[in-house]
Amino acid sequence: MVDVNLVLRSTRVITPEGTRPAAIAVSGGTIAALLPHDAEVPAGAVLEDVGDDVVLPGLVDSHVHVNDPGRTEWEGFWTATRAAAAGGITTIVDMPLNSLPPTTTVDNLRVKQEVARAKAHVDVGFWGGALPDNVKDLRALHDAGVYGFKCFLSPSGVEEFPELDQEQLAQSLAEIAGFGGLMIVHAEDPHHLAAAPQKSSEQYADFLASRPRDAENTAIQNLIDQARRLDARVHVLHLSSSEALPLIAAAKAEGLKVTVESCPHFLTLTAEEIPDGATEFKCCPPIREAVNQDALWQGLADGVIDCIVSDHSPSTADLKTPDFSSAWGGISSLQLGLPAIWTEARRRGFDLTDVVRWMSEGPARLAGLDRKGAIEAGRDADFAVIDPDATFTVDPAELQHRNRITAYAGKTLHGVVKSTWLHGRRINDGGTLAEPSGRLLERNN
Ligand SMILES: [Zn+2]
Repeated sequence: MVDVNLVLRSTRVITPEGTRPAAIAVSGGTIAALLPHDAEVPAGAVLEDVGDDVVLPGLVDSHVHVNDPGRTEWEGFWTATRAAAAGGITTIVDMPLNSLPPTTTVDNLRVKQEVARAKAHVDVGFWGGALPDNVKDLRALHDAGVYGFKCFLSPSGVEEFPELDQEQLAQSLAEIAGFGGLMIVHAEDPHHLAAAPQKSSEQYADFLASRPRDAENTAIQNLIDQARRLDARVHVLHLSSSEALPLIAAAKAEGLKVTVESCPHFLTLTAEEIPDGATEFKCCPPIREAVNQDALWQGLADGVIDCIVSDHSPSTADLKTPDFSSAWGGISSLQLGLPAIWTEARRRGFDLTDVVRWMSEGPARLAGLDRKGAIEAGRDADFAVIDPDATFTVDPAELQHRNRITAYAGKTLHGVVKSTWLHGRRINDGGTLAEPSGRLLERNN
């Protein structure tokens, strides 16, 4: 074997064929081969033996709001990618909104890439945005390397990123389907939201009533109908309403190109536990009741939900006012997604191979990142090494996020990330982070 420079050895390596003892041979940042655990280390290679710690493929988080440039006081590429590295994530795909400019033209994409270039501690790709007036820009953005296009069907929360009505959605979807692209959708129906009771309140129940399940269910049904009519590929972002699962399952059974993600907060936090005024728990769609959460886990078990991604969407503390109706909506969790999900998954009888399917393989497949998402020869040598049985208590002061506000504060979680590896380099060694070595990723290269 030529030019192997690293061998990472563990009694528990999660491969596409299951968990087994192995020695991963790395050459030039790429996985060269999976060798037997006791294989001789090639001359010139460094051996890193992590004992019984589990080696996972580096996690892929395809739903991160980095907000840089423009709202860098909320988050930025430096802090977000450090948080990712600390949390076992080796690839993020940045959302097109909340930064200024938004990623809605090729020029804007280049601005964002320039800002990210020197700050990226992990690999970074970009989603484009679909607005009412940029249908003409979508093809060029696709060719420039975005992984797909995000749109809203209800107000996004920032004025520079307006939502699409059904006719505009059809126009954008037809354009994107024409070049084989992907539309990713914030699916809440604006008419159902407008009809729901809206009032200023510090009580979570009032906020929950303002974002009913019907709004999600209706928007998702309409989206499925459009996908069928236009033969378009669509992805439902941050599913909260479990009532939409049968709709999505039926669409998949019909052969439509529909996928769906959910998020750690919907799967590990419940409406019942949210204290008055605790707007660090506010996001849209909202965290719902425990019974809804149980059904989402069934959706994961059934394979209806394709992936789990953070929807990390922070803001400064002053925007998290106690009034749920006016506080900024977004939950900060990039660094904590893996332990949060693993803690709940193990309690419900799932194992780490399930977590890898949902948090690495699934998001990589969604975005078409075919060098990511699995430990096998030919893929990037991106790994997370964890002690799945060790626990820690979330102390916001220890997070790498720019704003250390989190709905997980004080929770005791299973799964300590011991190290993170990117292109065969250790970028996180027990919480000590290396200088940036992340790459900017573009579709198909
Ligand atoms: Zn989001």
